[in-house]
Amino acid sequence: VKIAQVLASKSGGVATIPPSATIADLVDALGHHHIGAMVVSPDGRAVSGIVSERDVVRALRMDPDVLSRPVHSIMTSEVHTAEPDGTVDELMALMTERRFRHVPVLEDGVLIGIVSIGDVVKVRLGELEDERAALMDYITKGG
Ligand code: AMP
Repeated sequence: VKIAQVLASKSGGVATIPPSATIADLVDALGHHHIGAMVVSPDGRAVSGIVSERDVVRALRMDPDVLSRPVHSIMTSEVHTAEPDGTVDELMALMTERRFRHVPVLEDGVLIGIVSIGDVVKVRLGELEDERAALMDYITKGG
């Protein structure tokens, strides 16, 4: 399955937050959108970084007064990204190896979507279900 197919099945765009927004703004947006990470971007197109709930927890642990600080102070700047013609299998390997749950998708350097580990699991379950149905067919009807 191609990454483009996953993006097509998702509604809405990508939630981004400017680097200068505060961590309080970030927490509010994550809660509002029911998501675990946001792409940090000055204009919604270029990727400056990525910031997840995990970064917020880590920052809070070091400094309970972190909420007024800017998002760029806790974001990950070296972002692993994917392209729409890449595969979900590749993403799954990347997420497993690197232990992160979000990968922004770029086309010609412009942000066009994000794939979460939940999206990957959904695709994989669909594939396994199709395989199971084909095998059941083969067993019961002889192919
Ligand atoms: P997550 O599992 O997505 O909540 O992220 C765990 C950690 O990895 C956090 O420090 C994130 O900032 C970072 N992270 C998440 N996604 C990516 C990515 N695609 N590339 C690089 N770092 C990431």
